[in-house]
Amino acid sequence: MMKVNGKRVVSRLEEIYQCGKKEDGTHTRMAFSEEDVKGRKLFTSWAENLGMACRIDEAGNLIARMEGQDNSLPAILMGSHLDTVPDGGKYDGVLGCIGGLEVCEILKEEGYIPKHPVELIVFTDEEGFRFGKGLTGSSAICGQDPDICDSELDIYGEERGKVMQSYGIKSADMLKAAKDPASVHCFVELHVEQGARLYRADTSVGVVSSIAGVSRYDITVTGEANHAGSTAMADRKDALVAASGFINKIPEVTAEYGNEFTVATVGTIKVTPHSVNVIPGTCTFSLEIRDQDAHIMSLVEQKLQETLGDICKKYGVSNTFVPTSFHDPAPMSDWVKENIENAVKELGIDYCVIPSGAFHDSLIMTSVFPTGMIFVPSENGISHSRHEYTEDKDIENGCNVLLKTILNVDKL
Ligand SMILES: [Zn+2]
Repeated sequence: MMKVNGKRVVSRLEEIYQCGKKEDGTHTRMAFSEEDVKGRKLFTSWAENLGMACRIDEAGNLIARMEGQDNSLPAILMGSHLDTVPDGGKYDGVLGCIGGLEVCEILKEEGYIPKHPVELIVFTDEEGFRFGKGLTGSSAICGQDPDICDSELDIYGEERGKVMQSYGIKSADMLKAAKDPASVHCFVELHVEQGARLYRADTSVGVVSSIAGVSRYDITVTGEANHAGSTAMADRKDALVAASGFINKIPEVTAEYGNEFTVATVGTIKVTPHSVNVIPGTCTFSLEIRDQDAHIMSLVEQKLQETLGDICKKYGVSNTFVPTSFHDPAPMSDWVKENIENAVKELGIDYCVIPSGAFHDSLIMTSVFPTGMIFVPSENGISHSRHEYTEDKDIENGCNVLLKTILNVDKL
């Protein structure tokens, strides 16, 4: 049975990591940055050494192609992203790119020419922290407007148009990167779990069932700003006290109406007038709900809204509850999932079927192409951090599952 070279994968993960090295000692490959371009160049050199043709599409996705026996057949796609969050880790995204490359390298070494052509994609700006929206390259490949323009500014005040010159692309051309669904056999992404389920279960591989949907809201509680010294406690309409009462109830309500995968989070909060000696007149905060089931998301939303109403009534304050965005839960393709499961079983590796709480390029890809995801454990569930760690044996197992999956789907 063909097997990957685990040592080569681990050493390449390290080499790409070093491409993100910053002067302050952290490792960051922000999309479109010098470090990101350096990582992509190194990746391109490896792919070209295998005789793969590399190109950058109109959305900046780096696509390395290995021809098959019959190039009129739809392509098998693999890939993930090389960009990271600030001070990010070694594995998030990179593993799917290097793992895909390893699959191509083994096929080449073994002289195995797949029936289908194989394309390895390094997606553009998955993380999205630079401009506040991610999944840019995968959206374009799926023909979905990434909703960007050349004049918008990044967190440093630089214009997108200028920033994207490092990839040689323009916002207006993005959608030209859209792939015809008929030209794609399937897409498989290998990724670290970024949660602790596999790690705690001491299981090497996760077959992803679906990616959680996300709904977001802006909530404002309005009370009365007043003097913090002369207003008696009984006379106050403190917006922050009411908001805190609600936020405190979120875990309880989520546990009661959700399931073990349901999560709800308040991630931002601000009060006005924001002064040390004034009772907060308003409190505005974000709320985010994630689950695999849209019905549960809407039930939890409804119960949270009721809870907020009750608490505001108790404190004599009012509220607004405004939905700001919604992403449906995204199930993975049944047949791709089945092929991944068969691959794990044939390899005799421990696995479980789990959902993904985090977003990935696969979230977008699954809406257009048959898509499957393979997870490997993140130690202690830590990710988006320099402390992100996945054991070598899990990396090797994950890559072997990817290889076997590609061989399996190639027969179809
Ligand atoms: Zn990622």
